[in-house]
Amino acid sequence: MAALETDFPPCVAVFGTDGGSPFVLVSDHAGQAVPPEMDGLGLSAAERARHIGWDIGIDGVGRALSRKLHCVLIEQVYSRLVIDCNRAPGHPTSIVTVSDGTRVPANQDLTAAQRVARENAILHPYHDRITQELDARVGRPTVVVALHSFTPSMKAVARPWQVGLLHNRDPRLAHIMIDLLAQEGLTVGDNQPYALTETSDYTIPKHGEQRGLPHVEIEIRQDLITQPEGQEEWAERLARLLPKAWALFCAQYPVPHHTAQMQDATV
Ligand SMILES: [Zn+2]
Repeated sequence: MAALETDFPPCVAVFGTDGGSPFVLVSDHAGQAVPPEMDGLGLSAAERARHIGWDIGIDGVGRALSRKLHCVLIEQVYSRLVIDCNRAPGHPTSIVTVSDGTRVPANQDLTAAQRVARENAILHPYHDRITQELDARVGRPTVVVALHSFTPSMKAVARPWQVGLLHNRDPRLAHIMIDLLAQEGLTVGDNQPYALTETSDYTIPKHGEQRGLPHVEIEIRQDLITQPEGQEEWAERLARLLPKAWALFCAQYPVPHHTAQMQDATV
């Protein structure tokens, strides 16, 4: 079948080196790539470059942060309009037909085989790469940091938060980060602009909650990180605050013993 013959270039880009840091950075929506055969999904480059296609600015933030923290960043490089890597396979918004008013021609009437081809080429290899990284760290303190950005206004409603921390089963590290960011004079979203859930999210439930690893999901407002200066500013801020938050966490809570593929969320 033609759909299975689609040529998918590698979906993962890894930046930074592990210098002993507890942090592992992951970025589900860091790129705009589309397999050549999909003809840009039938959208203009301008549409694909909107917030519907990727998390604007988070690539620059993540790469600078990985350098400053001396840790690894695992980026998923395909447009989230090809497949959303923060959704479970088969989720209704895994491969969207319409996003923020834009119809995605290449996503209409997909066959099961076409969906599975995208999952096998992008979703599963990306998450397998994260699993591999976490498995290699068994026995070491490990914190999963999921990096995202959000559009400043949605459905004509302006969003006041400069940054948001999302959490669900284990809010401990998120709450510490919320306090530290608020102390910088920022308006911080607590489960805003979205709440993290087991059904609307995939990366943190799978790699943080299910493994029992401390984690944070950070959303930065896109207008603040569109340009390199803002990306650098936010990377510098997070590079200061994440180690501080982790130190406060370790002073308050026992650091979980990190074992391979823990099945139960214990918090
Ligand atoms: Zn995102």
